[in-house]
Amino acid sequence: MKAAITADGIRKRYGDIQAVDGVTLTVETGEFYGILGPNGAGKTTTLEILEGIREADEGHVELLGMNPWPRNAHLLPRIGVQFQASAFFDRLTARETIHTFASLYGVGTKPADAMLDRVGLSDLGGVRAEKLSGGQAQRLSIACALVHNPELVFLDEPTTGLDPQARRNLWDLLRDINAEGRTVILTTHYLDEAEILCDRVSVMDHGKVLKTGTPAALVRELDQTTRITVESGVVEASVVRDLLATAGAEVASVEDDGVSLSVATHQPAPVLSVLAEQGALRGLEVRGATLEDVFLHLTGREYRA
Ligand code: ATP
Repeated sequence: MKAAITADGIRKRYGDIQAVDGVTLTVETGEFYGILGPNGAGKTTTLEILEGIREADEGHVELLGMNPWPRNAHLLPRIGVQFQASAFFDRLTARETIHTFASLYGVGTKPADAMLDRVGLSDLGGVRAEKLSGGQAQRLSIACALVHNPELVFLDEPTTGLDPQARRNLWDLLRDINAEGRTVILTTHYLDEAEILCDRVSVMDHGKVLKTGTPAALVRELDQTTRITVESGVVEASVVRDLLATAGAEVASVEDDGVSLSVATHQPAPVLSVLAEQGALRGLEVRGATLEDVFLHLTGREYRA
């Protein structure tokens, strides 16, 4: 099957700032694809070039097999672009807003109302868009992007500023959209979100893609130790160290800070059995690497969400 999006060597400069510096990526049809990166990494500019909203200085983009720039009227009914919630029309209610978007695409009011229902906003249809909460406004903006049943959906930080429950509700909606066969490409600051939702991610910084892969493969590639932590005070760190040496288990470190005893290892199984034999499993936590570790490793700095 043909890729939904291919970008080859795209670049964009704003004055002195090289916002996008040679991005090459492919999004397969039906894929859920994430673009991650710190503030100013070039995610939004990249997305806008892929959408055909912004012209690249250099490089080539194919969106559903066509060039999105200059604005390609054949593509517009096939793609959905999430509108920033702040850009809703003044004084329109939620229902009037989605009806307006629907009419732009020649979609009737019935499917528009069904979409409002789908994002759980039916009861708030009569409320002015500017009076909606952040989460409700995000859901309305996604409903507007989906009202014409597009096959490819672009979302720019769709869950920023939402409370944990609203985020999870939106994740369910985005998963459903993707499960229906739509290609979804999003930018996000939330690495847990990318890890849960995305089939593949690209980590960007300074306008370049640093790495692309499935979240699991990127984490595995990092080859970081697993950290096993139990409550302090049941067994001495030196005893654990000796028992693990006798068992032939390779451990990177065994430390006790008076609150927790922590073992860092590539071989969690023998560590867990030694701790179990010592009756020292109280408060057990096993933490493997996450996408956040991958991110920090690649960008070499704290994640600036
Ligand atoms: P964030 O996570 O903060 O949204 P981002 O990764 O989406 O950031 P971009 O918005 O693409 O990054 O911005 C990349 C760089 O280009 C930044 O340094 C930004 O200040 C600059 N930039 C973005 N848009 C413009 C513009 N219209 N004019 C001038 N500079 C811009």
